[in-house]
Amino acid sequence: MNDLSPPSLSRGCRDEPILKQRGQHEVFCGLTGIIWLHRKMQDAFFLVIGSRTCAHLLQSAAGVMIFAEPRFGTAILEETDLAGLADAQTELDRVATELLARRPDIKQLFLVGSCPSEVIKLDLARAAERLTEKHAPSVRVLNFSGSGIETTFTQGEDACLASMVPVLAKTDARQLMLVGALPDVVEEQAVSLLNQMGIDGVKVLPAPRADEDLGVGSGTVFALTQPFLGDTHAALERRGARHLSAPFPFGEEGTTAWLRAIADEFGIDAETFDRVTAAPRARARKAIAQASEALRDKSVFFFPDSQLEIPLARFLTRECGMNAIEVAAPFIHKGIVGPDLDMLAQGPTLAEGQDVDLQLERCRDARPDLTVCGLGLANPLEAEGLATKWAIELVFTPVHFYEQAGDLAGLFSRPMRRAEMLKLDPA
Ligand code: SF4
Repeated sequence: MNDLSPPSLSRGCRDEPILKQRGQHEVFCGLTGIIWLHRKMQDAFFLVIGSRTCAHLLQSAAGVMIFAEPRFGTAILEETDLAGLADAQTELDRVATELLARRPDIKQLFLVGSCPSEVIKLDLARAAERLTEKHAPSVRVLNFSGSGIETTFTQGEDACLASMVPVLAKTDARQLMLVGALPDVVEEQAVSLLNQMGIDGVKVLPAPRADEDLGVGSGTVFALTQPFLGDTHAALERRGARHLSAPFPFGEEGTTAWLRAIADEFGIDAETFDRVTAAPRARARKAIAQASEALRDKSVFFFPDSQLEIPLARFLTRECGMNAIEVAAPFIHKGIVGPDLDMLAQGPTLAEGQDVDLQLERCRDARPDLTVCGLGLANPLEAEGLATKWAIELVFTPVHFYEQAGDLAGLFSRPMRRAEMLKLDPA
């Protein structure tokens, strides 16, 4: 069995100084989360109260949906609304009521705020209350912000899940809740491993349907599957639930440590734990070893984007043999990523927030072998001869748990191989 105890704090990063940056930042807004959330929550509709820009973002991020009636849309705020000339609340009620009349399959309606709705100070919380009164009990109407003024792209999921927590039923039952939207196949793998250990009745937030038997209370312990769920974490604690702090389930080591934190909480003995995890751990190690050949001894630089940066830096340095130069995240919440920081060896610059010009200078000076960044920065950096990895792919691709560990390493090694090939073949 691997030693999973974190390295001593003299080597871990938890207490290292953090470079705090507050300048221009380059990252998608929180509306992006709707793309994966609408697939996960099968009876939900996301109504963005926004502009044509917001509609274009969603359309291009999701692709054109030809065969299915989409479960997201944009109520476009026209210039008259923006100038405060029309009663946007009345208009919103009309659009929502028409939508719900046309789509009886919708059981949860999310009113999603955007930059324009924030600028005109449209009170979506009040609208959600009013619409809930009108359409309860068949439809629950909630609101959250996905605006680029307030959120970076993974914060959209956090805001959405946090908006659901206050309306969950109260239960004092002893239960485990997994929190975070995962692809179904990945979620099934996690639940199956836990079931094999004897941990049954595992709950998941978000549940696939509104009428799912999902409650929360003092008997609930929860494990986050995504590191960007700070507001959801706080909302669950306010409901009396307790967080199981652990490294995130990326790679063999992270997955084992995450599972072990749950197993310890539920009193699963070491023999059972090893019996259930031994085979997938071995598969994960083998797959990582193969996929990470191109990564060994190479350097990596993270721009802040998805909030996955710290757990991924831990995976890349400890399991793939990379050296991290800078690990930047939009926010560093030590109550959530503390265990990953404990396992990340000292050395890289830790940065929170962004001043993009200053960070680009640091990146150019460092000339990393691989730069993980958003789409807007990737092309210019590639043109300067730096290999890049688009951070957004890490959110759209199944990368959690044992069976995806090799694919996760592969996501980073592919751009490195491509860069090598381009060097060899100048044509
Ligand atoms: Fe652009 Fe703001 Fe709409 Fe996002 S919410 S697409 S940043 S206008």
